[in-house]
Amino acid sequence: MESPRASRLFPRSWNSGAAAPLLEEALEDLSDLFFPPICYFCKEPLPYGGEELFCRRCRRDIRLTAAPYCLRCSRVDVELDEATLLCPECLEKSHTRNPLSRVIAGAQYSGKVPDLVSNFKYSGLRYLSKPLARFITEHPEFPVLAPHIYALVPVPLHFLKEFARGFNQAEDLAYSLSAASGIPVIRALKRTRLNRPQASLSMESRKANLSGAFAFRESQRARFASIGKNQLVALVDDVCTTGTTAELCARALRKAGLRNIILLCAAKT
Ligand SMILES: [Zn+2]
Ligand SMILES: [Zn+2]
Repeated sequence: MESPRASRLFPRSWNSGAAAPLLEEALEDLSDLFFPPICYFCKEPLPYGGEELFCRRCRRDIRLTAAPYCLRCSRVDVELDEATLLCPECLEKSHTRNPLSRVIAGAQYSGKVPDLVSNFKYSGLRYLSKPLARFITEHPEFPVLAPHIYALVPVPLHFLKEFARGFNQAEDLAYSLSAASGIPVIRALKRTRLNRPQASLSMESRKANLSGAFAFRESQRARFASIGKNQLVALVDDVCTTGTTAELCARALRKAGLRNIILLCAAKT
């Protein structure tokens, strides 16, 4: 169900290695003729030749992360500690060891974002991974962090769940992010158990429910052979709620000897 406009969501120059740019351009012009670009949400016509999927009005209902936000978890609308720029929760946890050093969330999970995420995940609109990846690349710190990221590691789904859904949304997001940034994707983790859905559980039961659920794929170890001491490994997921899933993934990566792990997610609840 790939949208005819899906390839237009990033500037053409980002499509490195396009075999026949002229042909691609001609096909896009043709697709505009048959499928005039309209806003994904309100179906208002969009200007021809634009790269956007949303009209200006609908874009206002998407809150991209912008300062001031917590430097560790990307949360907004909280009072930040003046010295560290951390929210009270992260400040309290700053002395305990967290396998995940930072959460970079592109947008807040409010306004039109939940709709977008659920259409991506549950209605199989896989082309939505591109605008969601773009939320991440528009995070104020992404351009600074990107050169230090060695690889993107998608949060894995259990293979039965992936089979039922037909795809892993975190993996699609990672590949769209990779296309936009040039950072390679390494599917370094696997899910070893099928767990109860996290949404209905408290923080502690979330941890218990998931403990031991993620493992490093030994077959991918060689791909990390040239990682530098200060380079980052970035987990990728669609939405971050409590961060439990990402923390357990980070723990599995640390067990395999990797350090400096961050999470890139499209939205933060
Ligand atoms: Zn609109
Ligand atoms: Zn925080």
